[in-house]
Amino acid sequence: MLHDDAVVSVPDAAYGYTMIFHLLSLDSQEPSNFADILDAVGGSQNRLASALNQYIVRTCTALPSEMAMKSLAHTINFLAETYEARETFRSILLAEGIVSSIVLTLGSALSAGFLRHIISFSVSPWAADKEISSLLDVLILGHLLQGLASYKVVIQMKISLSEVEEASASLQFQQSACFEYWRSFAALASSRIEMLCLWHSAGCPAFLACDNMKCGVINQRNEFRRCSGCRHAAYCSRECQIIDWQDGHRVECSEMRSVLQSRTLPWRERAFISAFFRFDYADLRFKIARDTITLLQKHPGKPICAVFNYSEPGALVCAVHLKDDFDALPAQRRPIEWATQWGRLVRSGGRMEMNLLAFTPSFMIFTTRSTTSKFHEGLRRIARDLPPDTNPSQSEKVNTCIRHLIQAMGDDAELKEIY
Ligand SMILES: [Zn+2]
Ligand SMILES: [Zn+2]
Repeated sequence: MLHDDAVVSVPDAAYGYTMIFHLLSLDSQEPSNFADILDAVGGSQNRLASALNQYIVRTCTALPSEMAMKSLAHTINFLAETYEARETFRSILLAEGIVSSIVLTLGSALSAGFLRHIISFSVSPWAADKEISSLLDVLILGHLLQGLASYKVVIQMKISLSEVEEASASLQFQQSACFEYWRSFAALASSRIEMLCLWHSAGCPAFLACDNMKCGVINQRNEFRRCSGCRHAAYCSRECQIIDWQDGHRVECSEMRSVLQSRTLPWRERAFISAFFRFDYADLRFKIARDTITLLQKHPGKPICAVFNYSEPGALVCAVHLKDDFDALPAQRRPIEWATQWGRLVRSGGRMEMNLLAFTPSFMIFTTRSTTSKFHEGLRRIARDLPPDTNPSQSEKVNTCIRHLIQAMGDDAELKEIY
């Protein structure tokens, strides 16, 4: 039993594993089990979350064992599930920084031979076991694949993949049940590694847009001054800072500060996400524009956001949704700066777009800014002028108009990562 609130002892490996195993395989119909586990760590959900978090960091950074891989897979599964009964604990785990722990410790796990372990695990007699094989799927799809959103992981992945080149090409592995997933992962890994090299050779550029929503300046990150209150809002000049303070930042500043304090990813990690997202956004811009027109045709004037799903294997899926769809979600499922960002979007007069990046188990908001509102106005105009019986996705005229709009914009759309 633990009695000191300030100190959470790290469970030893065997106890930690048993605890996590019970916790994660907990039947949502039997909340009494959960109470027992809580009691074992001193009765507080915060304490349990902290212990689980420390346990994951410890097991991932040590030599990956079968047990560590199982705990990880169970944790990832647990976070991906949304049973009502576990919702509170899940939120506490997220606030505890479990996602960062899982992703950031993957770099160390990789250098300790994580990939080699996965491959030998997949071709071992254990892999015939249904439970083990589904854990392997979770590790490859839930862990390795999503880990590719991390700068540190991608750097290490380059080395680790070359180390297992021979093992991953073996016939035995290619015939194993999880090889198909491995292939999706390896394809994404190669493209992220390539992107990272491009980004490096360009000097890791990061862009910002002036947070005075009436100003259209977009520039390199170091060209801006920050608000000293939240250290987040960025302005191209003192004048812009004063205007935005009066326009709404006065109210938003403390909220933005708490958003920033709740961040657990280092700057370079966020800049890397922003960098590969820029590539993906440019690739999918035509589709987003056409889907936006389709949605606007049915719901003129309604606010819209694009959702990029990074939690599934294969080609990146992007869909456009009404803001209303997300407003209907329980508040804890949305990023905390949700309302503030929509307020800013309205103030931007059409220069800001809302993008949600879905990683299991949460969303990140990435806003896109343009120097003018021409693109946004163009899409609204096309939607408004369409005869009601026209299907935008089958109209050559709509396609041509979108192409013209994109051409006229050139590269004039930068991302500003917020969360
Ligand atoms: Zn400005
Ligand atoms: Zn501020």
